[in-house]
Amino acid sequence: MTENGPAERGRSLVVRTVSELRERRAAIRRAEHRVGVVPTMGALHEGHLALIRAAAEENDEVVVSIFVNPTQFNDAADLDAYPRTEDRDVELAQAAGATLLFVPSAAEMYPVGFATSVHVGGVSERWEGATRGASHFDGVALVVTKLLVSVGADSAYFGQKDAQQVAVVRRLAADLNLPTTITALPTVRDVDGLALSSRNARLGTGDREAALSLSRSLQRARDLVAAGERDTALLAAEARRILQDAGAAIEYWAIVDPATFEPLAEVVAGALGIVAARVGPVRLIDNAPLA
Ligand code: AMP
Repeated sequence: MTENGPAERGRSLVVRTVSELRERRAAIRRAEHRVGVVPTMGALHEGHLALIRAAAEENDEVVVSIFVNPTQFNDAADLDAYPRTEDRDVELAQAAGATLLFVPSAAEMYPVGFATSVHVGGVSERWEGATRGASHFDGVALVVTKLLVSVGADSAYFGQKDAQQVAVVRRLAADLNLPTTITALPTVRDVDGLALSSRNARLGTGDREAALSLSRSLQRARDLVAAGERDTALLAAEARRILQDAGAAIEYWAIVDPATFEPLAEVVAGALGIVAARVGPVRLIDNAPLA
């Protein structure tokens, strides 16, 4: 702790709640700069740049991290094939408002002797957690914790494109009392509806139609809900048919609670449609609120 400065005099030495601790932390903070962080794995596209622009609007400093985090990949081939375009990324990030880029090596993040894990229970277990392996969200939780703590971030920006990741990070930030506001921003899409993803670059020319079936299946579910349908089993069956007809290999299509990612039997306010499918060599995910 710091020595008692003017702001500290007359206040009790002992605080017993996290919110009191935060108040003290705020009172003794010397620099008044707000710091926002945007964690990425690089290969930046408009989805990432939207996060950086939002961070630049709300903060004095914007730290963008570029780190292809090996601990969140369950598939070594996927890790190897992940696009790496650092020089271009640095330029794009700066033009969008980044004031600092953090581009660590794997050895910098996980030096010899590293032995700590961060596991978020419950919300991380199904869907992405089940299909990519339990270690996926452990890797995400670990690297996000390290980044937010290292940066001392006031706020952190994530894309709703990875909706379950947002839910895991919100749970993590709440459970560990991280002093960082978590903001999720809407999915940025191509004009035809395909959610932007660094992985889209690996789609073959004939794969576009199949890739579009993800967003179309979600739109179909939204339309059915708008017309009064509430039965999630029926909605999922209808949506799956769209993917199958387009030749996409479904990993899951479900309707879930947006905070817990537990499946819902009936569509209620906030219900989220989520989908993962393979198209050619590429694994794609998408989601949309249905009500
Ligand atoms: P990634 O580099 O894939 O780890 O993504 C870094 C951040 O950008 C994550 O918070 C993603 O959810 C977000 N992101 C990726 N694609 C999009 C998109 N199409 N729209 C909005 N945010 C996105």
